[in-house]
Amino acid sequence: MLLRHTSDIIVDREALTINPAKTCQPIGAMYAALGIHGCLPHSHGSQGCCSYHRSALTRHYKEPVMAATSSFTEGSSVFGGQANLLQAVETIFSVYNPDVIAVHTTCLSETIGDDVNQIAQKARDDGKVPAGKYLIHCNTPSYVGSHVTGYANMVTAMVKSFAAKSATKKNQTNIISGWVEPSDMREIKRIAREMQAKIVLFPDTSDVLDTPMTGKHEFYPKGGVTVPELVSTGDSKHTIALGPFCTEDAAILLENKCKVKFDTLQIPIGLKATDTFVSTLSRAAGVQVPESINDERGRLLDMITDMHKYLYGKRVALYGDPDILVPLTEFLLTLDMKPIYIVSGTPGKRFEASMESLLSKKVPEAKYKNGERADMFLLHQWIKQEPVDLLIGNTYGKYIARDENLPFVRLGFPILDRVGHSYFPTVGYTGAMNLLTKILGAIMDKMDRECPEEKIELVM
Ligand code: SF4
Repeated sequence: MLLRHTSDIIVDREALTINPAKTCQPIGAMYAALGIHGCLPHSHGSQGCCSYHRSALTRHYKEPVMAATSSFTEGSSVFGGQANLLQAVETIFSVYNPDVIAVHTTCLSETIGDDVNQIAQKARDDGKVPAGKYLIHCNTPSYVGSHVTGYANMVTAMVKSFAAKSATKKNQTNIISGWVEPSDMREIKRIAREMQAKIVLFPDTSDVLDTPMTGKHEFYPKGGVTVPELVSTGDSKHTIALGPFCTEDAAILLENKCKVKFDTLQIPIGLKATDTFVSTLSRAAGVQVPESINDERGRLLDMITDMHKYLYGKRVALYGDPDILVPLTEFLLTLDMKPIYIVSGTPGKRFEASMESLLSKKVPEAKYKNGERADMFLLHQWIKQEPVDLLIGNTYGKYIARDENLPFVRLGFPILDRVGHSYFPTVGYTGAMNLLTKILGAIMDKMDRECPEEKIELVM
């Protein structure tokens, strides 16, 4: 009973978060930056922040995550970090030779008020950025927002720094990826290829954070969206932004800057969200949906139909990032399950509106909350008040799952104690089958463990 002190009596808290359902802004910026080919993320702050962010990503993706730091000392904390960043830019380009340095800030550099925009311009003016190399930046103060905000800020910085409109339109569609696994980004590209739709996906961490073992260390793996591709997004026909919290700001900026119209969709998790993605891509790219994709959809439907009796009415608690939780809730409703408790540490009004429209008729008793006080402690208290049949979320839920004897499906960030998430997709029809397999496996493992001996079944 690791969380034995959690009680079911809920007291209104104004200033205390217990076990937050989010993490720190710069981690999101660092992850997004790794989705640019040849990019070295740079943390403008103290070494401790950078080490934590790198280790969080390394432990989730099981890959060495490279990033540089301005290494603030007491002196830079008082007088500002300009000298550190200028020196860092010079050193990084001469020693590590990236195509792009992507700078994000930390609580410390934000609190002392470093103007990173001005410092980056000074680095360019002083000739510290070699020809053909790039320095981009975004602000990621971690005392507001969450890792999702940091991801969104870095993706917006990509548009701000690179997207350009030329005289010639390109027959391609931009897809701005929300925070999903490298496997999911690979799956989005596979679906587009299957549909013969030409896309530019950014950021793209496939082949960066799920690289094959070749016996040879590549400091900059082969994956990631390239700078010319990012530049070309300004000439694309249309943009599809997947996950409003992570990508809509970038899509709006791209429209304002280069007049590329956009649609904001949910990340394609589950049947309906994938249907919407596939039909939007078909329309935007002017291509047909091939039979192979329809077949994938049919297989998912078949699986749902076969397994419906094990899922019907099951109460589910979930937590994590809003861009995952909204389509996941929709998918659980498609399965006739009951998403009953939902929390996200990421603030933003549209979360409540999305949940309201999904749940008010189908599960009116559902409780959901986001922002500072929407933490794992509150979720646990709700579960204590009335139990659930399944818990879905990142690794940190394992304590609740253990204490309450709940089937537990790991999904989201971070997953520190299992593998597979970065290799097998959750998006698309195939991803939905993966997710459904996990959900069923967790529920049925518990049934097998706990049913009386005379009831144990060999066949489903
Ligand atoms: S000080 Fe701020 S940026 Fe650094 S690890 Fe802590 S929350 Fe993140």
